[in-house]
Amino acid sequence: MTTNVRDQELLHGIPGSPGVAIGRAIVIGNPRHQVPRRYALPEAHQAELARFRRASERARMQLKGVATNLGSVSAAHSVIEAYAMMVEDPMLASEVERLIRSENRCAEWAVSLAVDSIAAQLARADDPYLRERSRDIEFVGEHLLRGFASQSAGYPTIPRGNLVLFARDLSPADTASIVSGGAEISGAPIIPGSTVVAFVTEGGTRTSHTSITARALKLPAVVGVSDVFDSIRTGDLVVVDGLRGIVVIHPDESSLHDARGRGERYSALRDALALARERAARTLDGTTVAVRANVENPEEARRGREVGAEGVGLYRTEYLYVDRLHPPSEDEQLAAFRDVIASMDRLPIVLRTFDIGGDKFVSTFKLPPELNPMLGLRAVRLAMTRPEVFLEHLRAMIRSTAFGDVRIMVPMVSTLDELRWVRKMVETACDQLRERGEQVPDQIPLGVMIEVPAAAVLADHFAREAAFLSIGTNDLIQYTLAVDRSSRRLAHLASPFNPATIRLIDRVVRAGERYQCPVSVCGAMAGDPLAAVLLLGLGVREFSMEVSAIPEIRETFRRVSVEEAQRVAERALDLSSAEEVDNIVVETFAPRLHDILAGEDVEE
Ligand code: PEP
Ligand code: MG
Repeated sequence: MTTNVRDQELLHGIPGSPGVAIGRAIVIGNPRHQVPRRYALPEAHQAELARFRRASERARMQLKGVATNLGSVSAAHSVIEAYAMMVEDPMLASEVERLIRSENRCAEWAVSLAVDSIAAQLARADDPYLRERSRDIEFVGEHLLRGFASQSAGYPTIPRGNLVLFARDLSPADTASIVSGGAEISGAPIIPGSTVVAFVTEGGTRTSHTSITARALKLPAVVGVSDVFDSIRTGDLVVVDGLRGIVVIHPDESSLHDARGRGERYSALRDALALARERAARTLDGTTVAVRANVENPEEARRGREVGAEGVGLYRTEYLYVDRLHPPSEDEQLAAFRDVIASMDRLPIVLRTFDIGGDKFVSTFKLPPELNPMLGLRAVRLAMTRPEVFLEHLRAMIRSTAFGDVRIMVPMVSTLDELRWVRKMVETACDQLRERGEQVPDQIPLGVMIEVPAAAVLADHFAREAAFLSIGTNDLIQYTLAVDRSSRRLAHLASPFNPATIRLIDRVVRAGERYQCPVSVCGAMAGDPLAAVLLLGLGVREFSMEVSAIPEIRETFRRVSVEEAQRVAERALDLSSAEEVDNIVVETFAPRLHDILAGEDVEE
């Protein structure tokens, strides 16, 4: 949606990452949408083939440059190296040559057609590893086509100074290049001394890759902006307001003044919250709340500790299996777990067994195509079909208990039999380690995620058998309300305030109290200030969230009392719609959280 206000133009999207930035636009278009379609006569074939070879070489060098900048320790390094190799793929080269020689297509057109046909073949493959490669070959094709563009100096002049990247979506290679301060992004040269200060993308949601990267880099981002390319041109001055999800093109003086003020106030809030990292998250009436980090790698755990995380409430270990052909070895997994444990000063670490399947496909498992992957062979269900791989995973987890306060958690559990099966597997893994002469602890806490409605309904049974319960609200909301968690169109239905989910959460908390089984929340609700207060009122005292939310949530708890949160929660349990619950939570708490919710003035 766009609204014209005098000369300036406002574009509305989704707030992907907080903060306010001002800069010049750099538009990264998709070159596959602008491919020249010329026929080349036979006498020009040699010249076209030479152009193709030069473009390949340039794309390869550019990708190699990104990989070198990243350094070999980065997880993205091997992906980018693989892209650099794919540029020289013989199948691609021979198809391009055939299209030039037999069909008289110009080199760019031949590359585009060859990439489309290889990507389509891969997308139809039974093998999930090959299916995943389909998107990779498209990225590689885009880099190759940029190689041609630079031969004809096709890039617009890139402005100097603070840059705002506009893209349909950012590829892993783009974000890796930004992270490493690379000399180009998607082939567009970045002038030394210029800095990327914000992102704007046409695609994406709050939980998409671009948003997560922007939050990790502390750069403001607005995502999901429809028709953004109709309005923006490279070089335009823009304001990106990642707090409100607004982009202003050609801002007037008053918008610029307003943006500077909001940006400064937001930074001041961030700094004030960072200083408060040593202060406990204690409510006005004296209840201490545990605030932990959700992490995907050791680096995130370190950042979590820096902002005051009191442990890791969810380590998504499935990321160890991504972008590789074979599962990580036991020792490799142990090294990653130890790294996370070491960053947390002996605070609790919850290792979640791999949650692979659903929307998290990895190449290490040959998964059959499913019509409904979210309802398919995912997480513990997949583990049950690969006991050997799962045992190796568990052995690494059990060995890591020697280095800290480690707990194991099982995702996507829907029946008690699944929990009992995992317990048996833990016992088998312990026996295997004892046979190898390794030390094994007498007891390892084994908890379950409550993220399938069936498990929430049977929470009393789970509370009797599990060491702890952790509510995964992302999936619990998705499955309770039958709303795909990645759908932009249905996002309005997935409210954290829907009374159906709130009643299920209440049920789980009560079951935990009855059987003295600790209950935490590790879904995105825990990192949303207003939803977190509602959870506090329902009786939750342990929260785990993405690292960027930790300072705000700790401060949120310092400004409310358990007593008033309980009153609101009790009323919410009687209400019939998400809107009504939203209203009472906002009415009661939003005024005092106004700076946190909007990044406004800091209250001392
Ligand atoms: C959840 O479902 O809420 C959760 C924390 O797990 P994930 O987002 O990894 O599915
Ligand atoms: Mg989940």
